[in-house]
Amino acid sequence: MTIRFKRVLLKVSGEALMGAQGFGIDVAVADRIAGDIREARNLGIEVSVVVGGGNIFRGVAVASKGGDRVTGDQMGMLATVINALALRTSLAKIGIDAVVLSAIPMPEICESFSQLVALAHAEKGRVVIFAGGTGNPFFTTDSAAALRAAEMGVDALFKGTQVDGVYSADPRKNPNAERYVSLTYLDMLARDLAVMDAAAISLARENKLPIIVFNIHEPGAFTAVMQGEGKFTTVVDH
Ligand code: UDP
Repeated sequence: MTIRFKRVLLKVSGEALMGAQGFGIDVAVADRIAGDIREARNLGIEVSVVVGGGNIFRGVAVASKGGDRVTGDQMGMLATVINALALRTSLAKIGIDAVVLSAIPMPEICESFSQLVALAHAEKGRVVIFAGGTGNPFFTTDSAAALRAAEMGVDALFKGTQVDGVYSADPRKNPNAERYVSLTYLDMLARDLAVMDAAAISLARENKLPIIVFNIHEPGAFTAVMQGEGKFTTVVDH
C-alpha cells in the first residue's frame, strides 16, 4: 500500500529520548530527532508529535510497589510534559517553531490542548508537540498518539521504536524473530505483539489510520520511510 504523506504524527517514546542512558533525557538524541523532524518538514510534510514519559516515570511502576495507580499515572503524564519541553528546546535550537500543548492545563508552562488550537498552530507551520498523554489515567501515550492523530486528520501515525518494525518476538533477545512487512490491526491485536497497546490499535483501526512502525534510533529513517525506503512495518486493513 502506497501512502502519500502530507501530514503525519510521530510518536516519540520516553525510552527513545533516553538514548543509551538509564534514565532521563539524552539531549544529543533529542537534537537528532529534532533534526529528523526538520528533514521531514523540508520535504513539505507537516509533522506533529506525541511524546511519552517512560524514561522518567510510569504509573504502573508506582502501582507495582503498592502505590496508587492514578497518582502514578498523573506523575507519568507530568513526565511527558518534561520530555515535550526538551523536544521543543531541541527544535528551537535548529530554528523550528514548535509549540507544546498539554492535555492537562498548566498555562505558566505551555498552552492547553484543544483540537482547534492544535490545528491553528499546524496551519501556521509550527510543529505541535502534544504533552500530558490523553489527560486521563489508565491510558498510554500510544493511545494519546492514536487519538491526536485522528483529531489532526493525519495520513499516518509513525510509531518510533527501538527496532525497524514489528517482529514476532523481541529481535534483540530472539535472533529467530520474524519481521513483518505488513500486518492488519486485527493481526496486531490477535498476536498480542508488544508494540502498542490494544486501546491504541483499536482507535487507529476505527479511524482507518495507518500505523508505521520504524526505528527511531536510525538517523534519517523517519524521512526514508516516508519515501518508501528502508525497513518498516505498515499496519493497515488490507
Ligand atoms: N499516562 C497516563 N495517561 C495517558 C498517557 C500516559 O496516565 O494518557 C501515564 C502512564 O502512567 C504512563 C506514563 O504516563 O506509564 C508515561 O507514558 P508512556 O508509558 O505511554 O510513555 P512511553 O512508554 O511512550 O515512554
